[in-house]
Amino acid sequence: TKLNIGFIGLGNMGGPMAANLIKAGHNVTAFDLNQSVLNELTSKGAHAAENANACATNADILISMLPAGKHVKSLYLGNNDDSGLINVLSKNTLVIDCSTIDAESARVVGSALGEQGISFVDAPVSGGVAGATAGTLTFIVGGSKAAFNTAQPVLNDMGKNIFHAGDIGAGQVAKICNNMLLSILMAGTSEALQMGINNGLDAKVLSDIMTASSGRNWTLELYNPCPGVMDTAPASNDYKPGFMVDLMAKDLGLAMEAAQQSNSSTPMGSMAKNLYTMLQHQGAGSDDFSAIFKLFSK
Ligand code: NAD
Repeated sequence: TKLNIGFIGLGNMGGPMAANLIKAGHNVTAFDLNQSVLNELTSKGAHAAENANACATNADILISMLPAGKHVKSLYLGNNDDSGLINVLSKNTLVIDCSTIDAESARVVGSALGEQGISFVDAPVSGGVAGATAGTLTFIVGGSKAAFNTAQPVLNDMGKNIFHAGDIGAGQVAKICNNMLLSILMAGTSEALQMGINNGLDAKVLSDIMTASSGRNWTLELYNPCPGVMDTAPASNDYKPGFMVDLMAKDLGLAMEAAQQSNSSTPMGSMAKNLYTMLQHQGAGSDDFSAIFKLFSK
C-alpha cells in the first residue's frame, strides 16, 4: 500500500534509502538540515518539508537516519525545551529510527514516545551505501511484534533481510555484536596472513588453505585484506571503501559502551577498538576497514 512517509536525514545512507521509497510508490516528505541533499531528493520526486515538524505531521511512518544518539535524542525529545517531535507526532505514526546509535539512547527515545502512545522501533542497517542504493540492506529491528509487523513492508522496500532482534534497543545491540566480531575477525585474519607472508608463504595459497580449514571466516573468504588476493576486495583497490575505518571505530565505541553498561568482558573487542583507533591516528580513517592489514606489516 502507498503510505505517507516522512524521512529525516538524507545523507550517504538516508538519501538513497528515501529514493527507493519513492520508487516503491510511496508519498515521501523529506527534511535535512543540509539544503543540497534535500534538493537532490526533491528532484527525484520527494516533497521538501520546511522543518522536521512539518515532515513528521501526517506521516503514517516517520523514518530518521542521523549520525549519532545525540542527534536522535534531540530530534525526538528536544533540548530541554518543547522543540522535540514528541510534541507533534500523532499516535497513528510509527517511528522507525535507522541510525546506528547507542542502545541506551534508543531505549530512552522509545520509552518516552511510548508513554505518549507513539510506536517506535530501532532499525539499524548493515550493507553500506551500496546496499542502500541497491535496496538490499539488512535491517535489524528492535521493538514490539506489532510495531515490527507494521515496519516490515516498508523496510522491505529498502532492503532484503529484515530481522526482529527483540525489544527496543535490541536492533542496536545485535548490530554492534556483529560489527565487533567482524573487526576481531578482520584483525585476526590480517595478523595470520602477515605471519604467513613473513615466513615465506604466498598470501593467496595461504588464504585458500585457511578457507578450506578451520580458520575459515567471512573476511578471509569474501573480503580478503591482503592486496592482490581477491580482485574485487577493497584491499586490491588501494583500500578504497567499502566500510570506512572511521565507521568501524564508531561502532566499536558503541560496543564498548554496551559492554560497560552490561558489565560484559570483551577483551578481543577492546583490543580491536584500540587497533582501529591507532589506524585512525595514522590517517587511515577514510580507508576501508580491511586496511588494518597494514598495521601488521614490517
Ligand atoms: P551522513 O553524515 O552522510 O548523513 C547524516 C545526515 O543527517 C546529514 O545529511 C545531516 O545533514 C543530517 N542531519 C543531522 N542532524 C539532523 C537534524 N537534526 N535534522 C535533519 N537532518 C539532520 O551519515 P550516513 O553515512 O548517512 O549515516 C547515517 C547513519 O547510518 C549513521 O548512524 C551511520 O553510523 C549509519 N550507517 C552508515 C553506513 C555507511 O556506510 N555510511 C552503514 C551502516 C550504517
